[in-house]
Amino acid sequence: MSKKTGLLSAPVRVLWELDLEPGISRERALRVAEELIALRVFYITIRPPSDMAAEIAGISAPYAHTTLSIASPDSFTGWDAAAGIKGLDLYNPSERDIQKSTTILGSAPAGVALSLTVVPEKGKLGGLLETVREGLAVGIRIFSIANPNLVNAYCGVADKPGLPSHSVSRFILDKSDREYLKRGLETLLAPYGDKARLLVHDLFLHEALDLPGLGRTEYAGCQAGDSIAFIAADGTVYPCATLPFPLGNVKDESLKDIWAGEARRKLRAEITELPKTCVACELSARCIGACRGLSFASGGFGLPDPSCGR
Ligand code: SF4
Repeated sequence: MSKKTGLLSAPVRVLWELDLEPGISRERALRVAEELIALRVFYITIRPPSDMAAEIAGISAPYAHTTLSIASPDSFTGWDAAAGIKGLDLYNPSERDIQKSTTILGSAPAGVALSLTVVPEKGKLGGLLETVREGLAVGIRIFSIANPNLVNAYCGVADKPGLPSHSVSRFILDKSDREYLKRGLETLLAPYGDKARLLVHDLFLHEALDLPGLGRTEYAGCQAGDSIAFIAADGTVYPCATLPFPLGNVKDESLKDIWAGEARRKLRAEITELPKTCVACELSARCIGACRGLSFASGGFGLPDPSCGR
C-alpha cells in the first residue's frame, strides 16, 4: 500500500552543513545560495564549520527564514556577518558550550529566536535533560528534539542498500526511555507554560509528551526528499540528515536538477510504500511509516521504523 502524493518541485526546508575546501568552493557555495533563493526555499538552516556560513546566512536572510545552527560557540563569527538571520540554534552543545555561549546569546539582536537542539541517545538521556536545564538557565525558550544525523555518522557506507542495525540502535528509544524523557522534560518545562516551546520530530516521542508548548502541524508522514533536504559538507544532497541515501552533489549539478532527478523520484516511491508488516496495523494510517530514515538505516525501507514498539 502506498500513499500517493504529488512531489514538491523544491524543498521547503533545507539544512546545509557548509564547509569550504575540502568541502565545496566559495564560488560554488555562493551559487548554491543563489539557487536556494531562486527556488524560494522557505526555511534555510546553515551550520558552520566554515566562516563563510555566517556570510551565506546573511545573503539568504532577506529572502528566506534563515537560521544559523552552531555546534560550538567557537564557530560563530559574530552578529555583523549574519545580519538579518531569524534564528540562532545551539546544536547538541555540551554544558560547557552553553555556558560559553552566554555572551553571544546576550548580544543577539532583537527578533532573533534563540533555540537549542538536542538528539536523544540511549544511555545519555540524563545528559540531554541537563542540557535543556542549562539552556533554560541562559534564557533559551525554544527547544527541539531532533532525529539523529545518520549521514554524518555513517556517510562512509551511505551508498549501501542498508546499514547494520547495531549502527542505529543507540538512537532508538524504547517505551521506558520515552517515559524517562517525558518525566524529565515535563518537570523542566511545565513551569514555563506556553513561554517555552518544544518541537519534537519523532512521532512516537511526540505522542508520549504532554506539554502546553508542544505543537505539531498536521502530520503527513516522512518528509525526507519532499519538503526536507540536507546538503552535507562535501556538497552531497540527501533527502534528510537521517536518511543516508545520496541524491546527487551540488558540485556537479544544480539542486533543481537533483530535485527533478530520477534518484529522488525513486526514493520518494520507496518512502511512500509502507513496509509490509505495517500494512495490516490499524495504527499505520496515523504513523504513515514514521521515520523512513531509521527504517532504511536499520536494514532497508522494507522494515518498520525501529522506534515503533509494536
Ligand atoms: S527520514 Fe523522514 S521522519 Fe526521519 S527524520 Fe528525516 S524527514 Fe523525519
